[in-house]
Amino acid sequence: MPEVTHKPLTVNFTPGGIREMRGLVMHVQEGENSLHDRFSDPAVECSSHFWVAQSGEIEQYVSAHDRAWAQAAGNPSWLSVETSGFARRPLTAQQVASVARIYAWGMAQHGWPLASASTPLGRGFGIHSMGGRDWGGHACPGSLRSAQTGEILSAVREMYPR
Ligand SMILES: [Zn+2]
Repeated sequence: MPEVTHKPLTVNFTPGGIREMRGLVMHVQEGENSLHDRFSDPAVECSSHFWVAQSGEIEQYVSAHDRAWAQAAGNPSWLSVETSGFARRPLTAQQVASVARIYAWGMAQHGWPLASASTPLGRGFGIHSMGGRDWGGHACPGSLRSAQTGEILSAVREMYPR
C-alpha cells in the first residue's frame, strides 16, 4: 500500500499465499509498540499485513500478495490489520481514520465491498473473533473495538469516491 511505512518481514509469512481477497480482518495487539521486531522472531510464528499505531501511523509488514499468519484458517482469504493498544480501550480517532484508509485502499485495489463481514465465508470488513475455533478461538479484538466497525465504514464511505 502506498504512503505507509514499509517494514517487510523475512520470516513468518507465506509468499504468494493469498488465494482470494475476501476483505480485511481487524485484531487488537494487547500491547503498544511496533510489532515488527516481534513478528521478525521465527519462534513467534505469527504476523499481520498491517499495524496501526494509536497515533494513526501505519506499518506494512507483509505484501497483499503474500499470506500473513494472523487468523489460522482465515489466512489464505483475508488481509489482516493489528491495532495497537488493548481490548479494554477503544480505537483512537486516528486509528479509526487509518484503518478506514487501509480499507478504502482495499476497495479500490482488491474490490472489497463497503460492508461488514460476519462470517469467514462473507466478504468485507471483519473481526478476528468471527472465525470462531477455525480461526484460533480468540475473543480478539473485543467488544469495544468490534463495536467501532460502523464508525470505520462510515469513515471509509467519506473517503471513497463513488
Ligand atoms: Zn486477533
